[in-house]
Amino acid sequence: MLDALRELETKAQAELQAAADTQALQAWNQAYLGRKGALAPFFQQLRDLPREERPLAGQTLNQVKQALAAALEARQEALKAGERAAAMVAEAIDVTLPGRPASIGRLHPSTATLRRIYAIFAEMGFQVYRAPDIETDMVNFELLNIPPHHPARDMWDTFYTTTEGVLLRTHTSPGQIRAMREYSPEPIRVILPGMCYRYEQVTARSEMMFYQVEGLAVGTEITMTDLKGVMAEYAKRMFGEGRSMRFRASHFPFTEPSVEVDMDCILCKGQGCRVCKYTGWLEIAGAGMVHPVVLRNGGYDPDVYSGFAFGMGVERPAMLLHGVNDIRYFFGNDLRFAQQF
Ligand SMILES: [Zn+2]
Repeated sequence: MLDALRELETKAQAELQAAADTQALQAWNQAYLGRKGALAPFFQQLRDLPREERPLAGQTLNQVKQALAAALEARQEALKAGERAAAMVAEAIDVTLPGRPASIGRLHPSTATLRRIYAIFAEMGFQVYRAPDIETDMVNFELLNIPPHHPARDMWDTFYTTTEGVLLRTHTSPGQIRAMREYSPEPIRVILPGMCYRYEQVTARSEMMFYQVEGLAVGTEITMTDLKGVMAEYAKRMFGEGRSMRFRASHFPFTEPSVEVDMDCILCKGQGCRVCKYTGWLEIAGAGMVHPVVLRNGGYDPDVYSGFAFGMGVERPAMLLHGVNDIRYFFGNDLRFAQQF
């Protein structure tokens, strides 16, 4: 019986090593260790053995059974490890590939230009003052020395709300009144950025809504020289060193005297081109000394205080700096445009 056992063990071990998958292992388990397996008859025989042979035979039988069970477990583990390794190869991912970059967005070209303007004026001591987009006729026009039916109103036709006397502001100038009434009688040095609205035909050069930045300085000894210095410094920092400036007489109801501020054309260096209409000059702002009536409306005595104000576009300098030839791109909602900045 012992010889037969050893022989069975050897055979079982050999078959186990040949079993290549889980199914084969199950079959092997039934064939040898199962209730009707090859080992079962030996337990029967054990009972028929002479008493003195039983201990050794029983011990050997148990050893063989345990050895086979242990071998089965080892084989199962080995097969699983093999399957895992195969899966690792088959389902391998290359973790060294670069990831998909997240889209982080960017600033709108108008916003980016506004921020440049803020930075330039901040270094000259100007704070940003926010005024509302929705204004009253009183603040937008009348307190700025533009009474009802004044011909200058034709230049600033706008959108009216259904509430009498309430409109979308046509310029950032009404913010001057608000800033003066808040700070009077303290000196003021602010810029007033924001969206303005005009009821007018939309063309490559004019939009019905656009950004403007207003500037206002009020104090006891402010002269036109200060205005000139501030404008020259702005042009230099925005468009580069060596800019030439000129002031051209003009008229605004809320400044006296009034000027248009021109800068030499940065595209043709003053030689004359299509953008500057062959004049060699580009208008960059309207400006002037704050009108005495406006100073008084803001709470400042014009005999004691003086001030200068200017207003400039934001899309225009952006167009010049980036070579954009149509203002409508700025609010056309076309990502292909915005993503180029
Ligand atoms: Zn030019």
